[in-house]
Amino acid sequence: MLNFGTTQADETATSAISAEIIRIQDLAETQVAESIQQLNTLQRSLPPDAKLEDQREVLITLIGLYLNDDQTEQARKLNAELSRLGVHYHDNWSNAIALNFQAAILKVEGKLDEAKDVNAQALQLAKSVNQKKLTCRVYSTASVINSELGNFQLALEYRLIAMEALDEGTRHDDLRRINALNNIGNLYTKLKDPQMALAYFDKGVKLAEQWDAQSMLSMLNLNRGNVYSDQGKLADAVKAYAESLKISRNIADRRGEATALNNLSDATYGLGNYSLCLHYAKQTLQLANKLENSVLQADSLVNVGLCHMGLGEVILGSKEANQGIDILRQSKAKPAIEEILGQLATAFEKANMYKEAYKVIVEKLALSTELFNADRDRVVSEMKARYDASQHEKQIEVLEQKNQIQSIEIKNKSLQWIITTVFSIIAAAVALTILILYRKLRETNRNLKEANSNLEQANTKLAHQSNRDPLTGLLNRRAFHDAMQSRTQITDRRVLSSDTPPHSLVVLDIDHFKRINDNYGHAAGDEVLVELSKRLSHVMRDNDMLMRWGGEEFLIFLNHMPTSNLQQVIERILINVGGSPVVFEKNTIPVTISVGYISLHQGEASDVELNWGKSLNLADSMLFMAKTRGRNQAIGIKKVNVPKEEFDALLRSDLENAIQQGKIIIEQIAGPLQKAEAVC
Ligand code: GH3
Ligand code: MG
Ligand code: MG
Repeated sequence: MLNFGTTQADETATSAISAEIIRIQDLAETQVAESIQQLNTLQRSLPPDAKLEDQREVLITLIGLYLNDDQTEQARKLNAELSRLGVHYHDNWSNAIALNFQAAILKVEGKLDEAKDVNAQALQLAKSVNQKKLTCRVYSTASVINSELGNFQLALEYRLIAMEALDEGTRHDDLRRINALNNIGNLYTKLKDPQMALAYFDKGVKLAEQWDAQSMLSMLNLNRGNVYSDQGKLADAVKAYAESLKISRNIADRRGEATALNNLSDATYGLGNYSLCLHYAKQTLQLANKLENSVLQADSLVNVGLCHMGLGEVILGSKEANQGIDILRQSKAKPAIEEILGQLATAFEKANMYKEAYKVIVEKLALSTELFNADRDRVVSEMKARYDASQHEKQIEVLEQKNQIQSIEIKNKSLQWIITTVFSIIAAAVALTILILYRKLRETNRNLKEANSNLEQANTKLAHQSNRDPLTGLLNRRAFHDAMQSRTQITDRRVLSSDTPPHSLVVLDIDHFKRINDNYGHAAGDEVLVELSKRLSHVMRDNDMLMRWGGEEFLIFLNHMPTSNLQQVIERILINVGGSPVVFEKNTIPVTISVGYISLHQGEASDVELNWGKSLNLADSMLFMAKTRGRNQAIGIKKVNVPKEEFDALLRSDLENAIQQGKIIIEQIAGPLQKAEAVC
């Protein structure tokens, strides 16, 4: 067998630290906790003047391991360090990978739309860095996020690009390739292309056998089983799952063993072999208890129950199944409950217990309606948010929204189908309930129509709005004044709840914009303004406001931004704008900005709370300071250390002086280094 440690085709000389990192990465395949500990020790022992590449690689490896081990908080903490490293060294590689991890964390938290936006920024930066390792990571994350969003085709395209960027030759490289092959197989499974899926899994199996990568073999067999199971080839599925089970047991992989057992019990249940299913389900339950995995406990308990029902022990079985469902209720896994209720109803039907079957179906139906409504509300609010966001993409969005409405209508039809089915099973007994459900359905349809007409109205209204800047489509000064007028909580409010994050104001101004006009022409200047407004929009959340404040100045209102996140957002603003040049016709135009910012609530010590007018003045002063200190940077007010009586006087006096005396504490964030000086 080839030795993993021997690096081949490595163009750069390997430092002692990077050799140590590779050794620990190897260890992580079998001993995650141990390798995390060793990496932490390595990180602490790094000399202060350690090479940027080494510092970066230790952090990247450690964050990756924490994420794989579900230790999101640790990952987040270290990622902030990685982000600081990027800003400090003006290193776009670190900046891109930090954004990439941030997207991965958002994905774990279920914030998929935000994850997609942040990942898009990472993709943009990665393109400018153009290094295989980085490309691979960022595109892999893009693939995972799109897969979770249901965009399987796009996820597949990203995954193929990521695999293309993989190195070849060492065991380590090939293990990554096997993983990629497995992921591609899974995407083909989701795209309902079992032949392609199996072809990729088989490629993975061959490579895994070559390297004797047992845990990969277990995973690949499990996924092969899933393909067969989807096709209804349950006997083949059982064989593949059994192979996966055997390997998992050999290498004492408890998680893999539990998953294989659970899938075996599902497949044997489908085959009607209730006693074999019971055998597997009981073993799964035992293991789930040991692993303290509540979802698996619930799943296996339901399976034990269903098998008992299949074997004629209906009362015992339904009790067990309901216990399982109760566990799922605690974890609020509503779609899973809905599916299981369907299985339970069928089990009751098979036992000729129609009354019980009916009760379960009514519960399932209520849950379907709830899920359907939640979906509809989500889609409708997304539609509204998008309408507000940009006039530019209006036409495209209208089409998208139509599609979404169509998909709601398709769901609606499936709801009708369920109702009709229930109706035919127990027509007489349920007449009244069905009537109520039909009413609900009609109400749903009415709401849909209402949503449609609201959207049309919003559309027309938008076209006549006078509070938008015609060049960039952003809100203008007037819109901000209007919004501030109606925001009573921000004007001179004296009491803020301690756990409500304050609002923040960010003023930014393009550096030497006049030169851009002079050197490239006015049209190029316009294009820079439009492109900048797009880049800035990427950083915004739904409730933030981005405005063109005048000429080449922008204002951002960050709604309830936790102070701890503010610095990171400012870094992202600087990187987004200055990280890559604006391309216009044949010109590549480098653009940087200077930024001044402030939180509207300035700490308990001084008890100074600022209204937005004063805050804007202060943010402006900080912007001016950023200009005079060399541009391409942000300066923000961290804290105001004076009682509120003295504050107005302070505003009128010399700020530089106040800063020197510690009355105002500021923080300074550097923008990305420009091309001529870039570190690569
Ligand atoms: P500094 O770094 O100090 O901010 O220098 P600057 O050149 O960016 O600032 P200055 O205020 O001297 O120049 C701003 C220029 O922006 C002058 C004006 O012609 C130009 N400008 C303002 N609005 C627009 C616009 O909508 N389109 C274009 N192309 N130029 C604009
Ligand atoms: Mg200006
Ligand atoms: Mg300017």
